[in-house]
Amino acid sequence: MRIGHGYDAHRLVPGRTLVLGGVKIEFDRGLEAHSDGDVLIHALCDALLGAAGLGDIGEHFPDTDAAYRGADSRLLLRRVVETVHAAGLGVGNADLTVCAQVPKLAPHIGKMRERLAADLEVGPDQVNIKATTTERMGFVGREEGIEAHAVVLLT
Ligand code: MG
Repeated sequence: MRIGHGYDAHRLVPGRTLVLGGVKIEFDRGLEAHSDGDVLIHALCDALLGAAGLGDIGEHFPDTDAAYRGADSRLLLRRVVETVHAAGLGVGNADLTVCAQVPKLAPHIGKMRERLAADLEVGPDQVNIKATTTERMGFVGREEGIEAHAVVLLT
């Protein structure tokens, strides 16, 4: 068994579509990034790569590479899962936390879980997603950004 941890944060800005856990969410701001800015998937990719001892998402998909401009992070996640499988490892489970003061994420968690489980090629019971605010403290609380944490077990 191998354990991995991932963390990511992106700035909330006007004029971008908010995508979290592979789900487009109706909101007046989105996450600034070279890709689609899916901070939850980025944290998950880093946890997978970390558990496999394969570095981080920036090494695998450089943000200087035009190929990843506006990239659907689910495609990156599937590439990471392929890499993990190629290393002879499979996903045991993933536990994810997204910290956002706004918008309310609870209505979207089920769909995120289904989509990420599909990309990880596991059942939805192997992917847990939690959403929390930070009680208006820090950059998340000031609505300046959204952050995500991920822990993954590979077997
Ligand atoms: Mg990122």
